[in-house]
Amino acid sequence: CGIVGYIGTQDSKEILLRGLEKLEYRGYDSAGIAVIGDNGVQLFKEKGRIAKLRDAVDYDVVAPAGIGHTRWATHGEPSKLNAHPHKSTSGRFTLVHNGVIENYSLLKNEYLQDVTFVSDTDTEVIVQLVEKFANEGLDVDAAFRKTVGLLHGSYGLALIDEKDPDTIFVAKNKSPLLVGLGDGFNVVASDAMAMLQVTDQYLELMDKEVVIVRRDNVTIETLEGEIMERKPYTALIDA
Ligand code: GLU
Repeated sequence: CGIVGYIGTQDSKEILLRGLEKLEYRGYDSAGIAVIGDNGVQLFKEKGRIAKLRDAVDYDVVAPAGIGHTRWATHGEPSKLNAHPHKSTSGRFTLVHNGVIENYSLLKNEYLQDVTFVSDTDTEVIVQLVEKFANEGLDVDAAFRKTVGLLHGSYGLALIDEKDPDTIFVAKNKSPLLVGLGDGFNVVASDAMAMLQVTDQYLELMDKEVVIVRRDNVTIETLEGEIMERKPYTALIDA
C-alpha cells in the first residue's frame, strides 16, 4: 500500500518510520522496514500499527540505507509472515511491493518449481526471480530488469542486495512511485508526502523503467538498459 526508501549518511530507521507514519492515513494491516549497512540487512516487521513496528525495531542497529512498507493485503492474510519486506531464499535480496502481480502463479510454475516459498504473497515471486536470475550469472541490474519484464499487473518495487549496500533498485507499473533527490542522500516514496520533510525535489518515473538509486546519483534505465535523462520537479510543501 505504501513504500519508502532512504540511502544516505544518516541512520535510516527513523526516516523510514516517519515516512511510513505519513502514509498511515491510506490504511494498512501490517508494516515493516529492512535496513542495510556494513553489517548486512536487518529486517523488522509486524502485523498492526506502526507503533508496534517501532517497538519491534532494534535501536542498536544503525544503517545508512533501507526500505519500508505498509501493506494492504491482496494475496495472503494479514500476518507478520506475509508482511513486507520479503527476502529471497538465500537472504541476499529483500523487497517491498505495492500492487498485484497477476501472473504470479504462472511465473512460479515456469521458473520457481524448486523454490520453497515462505509467504502466501504474490510479492515473494518477484524477489525469488531476482535471486534465480542473479544465481544464473546476471548482474543485479540485469536480473532485476529481466524480472520486471516478466511481471504482469501493478507494482511499485524497491529492492536491496546484501552484497551491495550502496544501491536501492526501484521500478513501477500502474502504481505510483517517486525518487526524491537530496544533498548526499536520495529517497524513494509511493507518495511525496512521505518524504517531504527531507526533500521537495522529485523525479517522476515512467512505467517499466528501472531506477538505480545511490547516495550521490540516480540512474533511470529502460528495460533494455538504455539510460534516460530526467529533470526533477519541486513538490509543493503543505506547511
Ligand atoms: N499484493 C501484495 C500483498 O498482498 C502487496 C499489497 C500492497 O499493495 O500492500 O502483499
